[in-house]
Amino acid sequence: MATIIDGKAYAARLRAEIGLQVRTLREQHFVTPGLAVILVGEDPASQIYVRNKANQAREAQMSSFEYRLAYGVPEEQLLELIERLNQDPAVHGILVQLPLPPQVDPERVINAIRPDKDIDGFHPLNVGALATGGKGIVPCTPLGCLMLLKHHLGDLSGLHALVLGRSNIVGKPMASLLLKENCTVTIAHSRTRDLQAECQRADILVAAVGQPRLVAGHWIKPGATVIDVGINRIEEAGKALLVGDVDFDLARDVAGAITPVPGGVGPMTIACLLLNTLEAACRQNGIAFPGNIMQAAWGSVEGS
Ligand code: NAD
Repeated sequence: MATIIDGKAYAARLRAEIGLQVRTLREQHFVTPGLAVILVGEDPASQIYVRNKANQAREAQMSSFEYRLAYGVPEEQLLELIERLNQDPAVHGILVQLPLPPQVDPERVINAIRPDKDIDGFHPLNVGALATGGKGIVPCTPLGCLMLLKHHLGDLSGLHALVLGRSNIVGKPMASLLLKENCTVTIAHSRTRDLQAECQRADILVAAVGQPRLVAGHWIKPGATVIDVGINRIEEAGKALLVGDVDFDLARDVAGAITPVPGGVGPMTIACLLLNTLEAACRQNGIAFPGNIMQAAWGSVEGS
């Protein structure tokens, strides 16, 4: 039976550690990290994400600024708001919740965010830094996945990793991070010919496709570590359920370790958003980032 990788517990420890560092930053340097979140429209799922992000920022003692714009807002108005936040010294991280309505070009919006405030890591400069092994801001979901993998496996060198999905926000940056950790990386996607065979070769399988239970139990290499990024809302036997991209009940008999949905990657995404905001606040004020923050959170999970 697989070990269940408890992302919820790990994220809680990480957030607590971030909270301590935020307090130190305020007491020693008079800087309070500030996160600005922009929501356009009233998409129910986006509203929940934005509320969670703002609440958790406040719980970590950060300043949280929320901007809610109407669905029909002209692109120029959104760009003006971003420019104002770019200039605001109290704001260290800017996040624009996706998806955006059709009159707004997401590429223009992402490009308008100052790269050192782009705590989602989507700006081309941050994407380029990750791809070339440079120092930039890393997208939150893949960063959270990597932390869980390293927490569970330690050194990833030489392991065969399969990333299922090639989106700009999860699949591609995940593959870059795993390559940086010296994995042998394969990226699979909707045009991959034999998905099952690719999965069966993988010591590490990261699934980010958005297809409920696509990865069957017998697709998994015995003992593999499975990170399930998928969040799919389905209805089964008259009940609303949240399931991943992996068939959890069957996979847990084969895998060595697996993240559940919910309670796996999701909580890590928000914790990493706070981590990126803290790091951005440090960098913008010329303060050394507390590099031991991950180890501190790590140790406390293992000791719990
Ligand atoms: P996306 O739609 O942008 O990309 C999906 C990718 O999966 C594409 O590259 C596509 O080629 C591939 N794909 C689709 N169907 C496939 C199939 N049948 N076989 C093989 N490949 C297939 O999605 P995304 O934004 O990367 O998100 C993926 C999933 O992760 C979604 O369920 C999303 O809700 C979830 N997600 C979760 C978090 C989190 O915090 N847990 C964060 C972001 C995304």
